[in-house]
Amino acid sequence: MTKSFADQRLREATARIRRFLDHEQPDTPCLVIDLPTVRDRFHAIRAALPQVGIFYAVKANPTPEVVGLLAAEGACFDVASPAEIDLCLERGAAPEAISYSNPIKKARDIAYAYGRGVRLFVSDSEQDVRALAEHAPGASVLLRILVNSKGSTYPFGKKFGCSPEMATDLLRSAAELGLVPLGVAFHAGSQQLDPSGWDGAIADAAVITAKLHAEGLSLTTVNLGGGLPAGYLTQPPPLAEYAAAITASITRHFGALPDGCRAPEVMIEPGRAIVAEAGVIRSEVVLVSRKSYSDERRWVFLDIGRYGGLAETEGEAIAYPLVPSRDGAPFGGVPVGPVVLAGPTCDADDVLYQKTCYELPLELRAGDYVDLIGAGAYTASYSSVAFNGFPPLATHCVR
Ligand SMILES: *Cc1c(COP(=O)(O)O)cnc(C)c1O
Repeated sequence: MTKSFADQRLREATARIRRFLDHEQPDTPCLVIDLPTVRDRFHAIRAALPQVGIFYAVKANPTPEVVGLLAAEGACFDVASPAEIDLCLERGAAPEAISYSNPIKKARDIAYAYGRGVRLFVSDSEQDVRALAEHAPGASVLLRILVNSKGSTYPFGKKFGCSPEMATDLLRSAAELGLVPLGVAFHAGSQQLDPSGWDGAIADAAVITAKLHAEGLSLTTVNLGGGLPAGYLTQPPPLAEYAAAITASITRHFGALPDGCRAPEVMIEPGRAIVAEAGVIRSEVVLVSRKSYSDERRWVFLDIGRYGGLAETEGEAIAYPLVPSRDGAPFGGVPVGPVVLAGPTCDADDVLYQKTCYELPLELRAGDYVDLIGAGAYTASYSSVAFNGFPPLATHCVR
């Protein structure tokens, strides 16, 4: 098996994080974020897509140090709520660097955002466009379209976006209501494993742009949303392939438009690809047990589960690499056997992996650690307040 560059990076970040964990011995479970990796991933995306505005999707990991670092490096932000706006502003982002990209918002939250200086919004409905015109007069708006998110590990389904036909009408009404219709937005699905997964939606955006251009309305922007992947048990294609595919799609679809249609300004909203590989979760083994004398598989119960931050194990969609250790050293060269992994709560769905093939040391016992690698995205931000009395996942940062 060839080891990819992502593996090498993961190993370096993991080594720094393990040094911190072994030295500080924080209570488990906890998430440790390696800030140099966050910086590195941001710059890798910027280098791969130099003309593109990078809006970090805050929900992937809202740790204030992460937001502050990205603001200092020149990132913009994709937010979904007043609290995320406050966080970005407190950590040094300018209001012009914030896109309120959640199409589902209360009128008073729009007014709050506008009051704090936010002037860029994403919408997908008539009601929301009207609310924007009333509570964010003169603001810029992108209309989100429904897309086919084939190739994505975490498709967004039909919750967000509207048909291209409706989006075209809503961009027209936005202009009539005094808003600035900027262009089209979409999300091609999270952990998109197909570098051409953006192509269909970019084609739709170009068609809408051409149609409105013919009516004298010029759109300037296309927002490619999230979806850039991270490495887990399986490695996605390299970032360069995504950048090449996306750039080629934009050239192909927008380059074919009639004269006078400008090449669009492009925004992208990576979440996972910036923070996933920067994080390691350390968990402790609570219990190792068997269900019968004949079943070879052991059940390994960790002190973290579905409600403590591992929401993305649902359907076993995301499979984190695991590193078991004892007394500060990973197990090496010991016999291993198959396991089912489960969380500590009394909820029957709090089982992490029973189909994915994981093998852990036969001598694994309570008190040993199991580190989950590549766990910086959609973990702490998804942990419950205190389901069953287990506290939410604590986050520490390594500089
Ligand atoms: C969650 C989200 C993102 C980030 O998606 P990733 O797959 O983590 O890159 C980007 N844009 C919007 C609107 C989102 O809701």
